[in-house]
Amino acid sequence: MKDPANASHHLANVYAGAIFREDQWRRLNAYARGWAEMPDSAELRAKCRTLSGDIARMEHCWAYPGPRLIEAIRESLEAGDAATFARLVRKVSDALLSSDFRREESAWEAGAETEGRVLDFAPPSLDGGPVQRPYFEVLIVTPSEPAQWQRAKDEMRRLRRPDDAFDYAVVHVGSFEDAVLAVMLNTDIQAVVLYDGFGYATRHDIPDLHEYLVRTIPPKADTFEPGALSTRLAKTIASFRPEIDIYLLSDRAPERLAASDEMASIRRVFHHVEEPMELHLSILDGVKDRFETPYFDNLKKYATRPIGTFHALPIARGKSVFNSNWIRDMGQFYGTNILFAESSATTGGLDSLLEPTGNIKKMNEATARAFGAKRAYLGTNGTSTSNKIVVQAICKPGDIVIVDRNCHKSHHYGFVLTGAQPYYVEAFPLVQYSMYGAVPLRTIKKALLDCKAEGTLARVKVIDLTNCTFDGHMYNPRRVMEECLGIKPDLVFLWDEAWFGFARFSPLHRKRTAMGAAAALAERYGSAEYREEYKAWKEKTANLDDAALLDTRLMPDPDKVRIRAYQTNSTHKSMSAFRQGSMMLVWDDDFHQVEGPFEEAFFAHTSTSPNLQLIASLDLARRQMELEGYALTLRMTEIALRLRNTINNHPLISKYFRIATPGEMIPAEFRESGIEDYGPPNGSWVDLIASWDNDEFALDPTRITLLCGSAGFDGTQFKGMLSDRFDIQVNKTSRNSVLVQTNINNTHSDAALLVKALADLSRDIEAKQKNDTTSGREQFAARVKSLVTDVPDLPNFSRFHDGFRDNAKARSNEGHMRPAFFMAYDEDNCEFVRLASEEVDKRLKDGPEMVSANFVIPYPPGFPIMVPGQVITADTVTYMRKLDVKEIHGYHAAQGLKLIKPSVLENRNATSTR
Ligand SMILES: *Cc1c(COP(=O)(O)O)cnc(C)c1O
Repeated sequence: MKDPANASHHLANVYAGAIFREDQWRRLNAYARGWAEMPDSAELRAKCRTLSGDIARMEHCWAYPGPRLIEAIRESLEAGDAATFARLVRKVSDALLSSDFRREESAWEAGAETEGRVLDFAPPSLDGGPVQRPYFEVLIVTPSEPAQWQRAKDEMRRLRRPDDAFDYAVVHVGSFEDAVLAVMLNTDIQAVVLYDGFGYATRHDIPDLHEYLVRTIPPKADTFEPGALSTRLAKTIASFRPEIDIYLLSDRAPERLAASDEMASIRRVFHHVEEPMELHLSILDGVKDRFETPYFDNLKKYATRPIGTFHALPIARGKSVFNSNWIRDMGQFYGTNILFAESSATTGGLDSLLEPTGNIKKMNEATARAFGAKRAYLGTNGTSTSNKIVVQAICKPGDIVIVDRNCHKSHHYGFVLTGAQPYYVEAFPLVQYSMYGAVPLRTIKKALLDCKAEGTLARVKVIDLTNCTFDGHMYNPRRVMEECLGIKPDLVFLWDEAWFGFARFSPLHRKRTAMGAAAALAERYGSAEYREEYKAWKEKTANLDDAALLDTRLMPDPDKVRIRAYQTNSTHKSMSAFRQGSMMLVWDDDFHQVEGPFEEAFFAHTSTSPNLQLIASLDLARRQMELEGYALTLRMTEIALRLRNTINNHPLISKYFRIATPGEMIPAEFRESGIEDYGPPNGSWVDLIASWDNDEFALDPTRITLLCGSAGFDGTQFKGMLSDRFDIQVNKTSRNSVLVQTNINNTHSDAALLVKALADLSRDIEAKQKNDTTSGREQFAARVKSLVTDVPDLPNFSRFHDGFRDNAKARSNEGHMRPAFFMAYDEDNCEFVRLASEEVDKRLKDGPEMVSANFVIPYPPGFPIMVPGQVITADTVTYMRKLDVKEIHGYHAAQGLKLIKPSVLENRNATSTR
């Protein structure tokens, strides 16, 4: 695979600095090997010198390999000792690649290879095997002279004790800029210690440092209060990597400091002269807070206790399995632990998901902390159920929900259950790819203003949207909430972030998450500047009518606004949880109104026998993300960016396959920045990040729409081919594309596998084209045309039948879906018409109207093209007739469309629908 790092040797040009550095070491290793083979080559020696010079400029951001090894490498280069140079570079490069430096002391020494001494003196794990003691790095930002740093490092190292739970090494930097750089680059940093008194500017010579840092920090301000640099740095770090623990050592009165607002992002304040041991223990304690998995830890303990069980669940402790004549292979396959960890008890420290008072309560709190929410609840039946819980908790019959018709079916079923009335709004269509984007803010505002005009605004309870969508369209939740709250200040937002749970841990993605936006808005509305801004805005817009407000940027009244955001995520889709593991995150200023109904809804939908392993995996997924989420999301994003770059710039592959760019996936009117693609050479990273801050929609690079129509494959066919021929599984298909998703488990080799498969396929097509007959070539062209050009129009939601509307003349489209849904339970109310029949055309033309009795949901694309009570129009029929997918939920070709009989509908009016 082409390595974009080769094309750009500059930090400012890369997205993931951490991966750029690994590449640099790998490249240096290759040069060094070459030089060792040809020690007389001045050219190779010069290459080694240039590259190791580049590398050395940034190495102060990492504890490993550290100044001693770097110095030894430099010396061997200066001495012209190619063999030693190659040995040392290989040692470092290998240790970085294999992570051996975390385990082996010898990796840190410049001497020749000796038998590696394992650092570890970890306590044995419960199942007997040793568990590697986790390693991390601590960043110290200090005004002291660099000459003293080694001594300080050695001192910190001497504080280690055999029973410490973790091992760490220390990195020193001397300035604000170096500290920010280190936190951006070094994914191993888990704690930062600030010694008051350091300066702002770096002393290192990094040519494009400022272009890189400006992604994270605004350009340097002129003056700083004494000591203000520490708190400002703490705030910067906390907003970039909120999981990091920050400690402050100061001569200022620590008691006063500790009470001040500026300390919000600082975990603990120490007086300069205090015991270093205290600091050491605090650092370990901070990491332990994140490492602790209260539920999982207890489940492990539980599994090893001798317990006689007389409750339900015969497989608990494996007795019904290991003693069986016939199902012993169950035990062999799943192993003993899973059976020993099974119980139907909620005693013994296992706690109850339904009424948590112990470990699960702690887990909820840890989850809220990790994901930046006020509260968190765990779901064990997927986000399908989490959505129903949230919908039921916040809606009662008659409430109006403004909702993307494209949203997952769990929302629609939620409305049926609660009797809430959906007001369907449409996403912008991407007809050429047979998919939908996301709902424009103007459409949502119009829906709200329509309800206002109809006098029903008070009933509008929720705005319900999917973020990001299946295909990667990310809303700008900050802006959506702000403008909608400008119309109704107590609106609730349900953000279905099923795919997007990981986003919290990626600084790039975080701005586009519900919780990230809630935090930003809470801070904004609490500030004096906002009050001023609002006052000015209010005066300016005082005379505008609703039509004008629709096209005006709206602001909520800071005295009335409530922040009420709910997020659901399928933890299993983007993190290390078992299938169906899900979370519900809450930031609701008025949760006191919802708490009771939330509990009811949770009881209504949650099994009284939730799966313990699943709960434990949610605990572990949270731990992982809080400790390595930054590294993992950085990598998955970088891999996605490289895939995009490689495929779209490959001369052969790009003839047949392309990855749709943000410019292609988002119409220009929603992409105010004009950004077409990610990063250089398309534009700077600074511009891209600004576009993520401001544009109405942005495209998540990790969700890759791989267009295969030009290769003559439809999505389903191509998906099958990738799987059968290349063992590559992809996420979903659409008419002329498949969705490839990078995730926290992906490696660069996975990406290489996909590129190789595409190259092989392209060569095959190319060869076939060359040797094919004219008619064969024409056939191919026709096939491509049918896939790429002759795409069916996507039907909009038509309307609910008048009998399901309170006011048939209202311009808002909400309707009563629940009575329509239950009418279909009585077969006498229903009739079927075959899709291909003439009757369909006749009724479209002359009536009576055809009204769907149920949901009809084709896969792909998976959104309901009919809902109960909806009038079926010509474009829906045309779309269904063209649809060539096999799986259509709610529709059986042999029977036809299931309709509510006109005679049943005849005398309905809204009053009979409740
Ligand atoms: C997958 C998905 C769901 C359902 O989540 P499960 O965890 O599979 O139950 C809900 N909403 C969206 C947008 C999804 O993609």
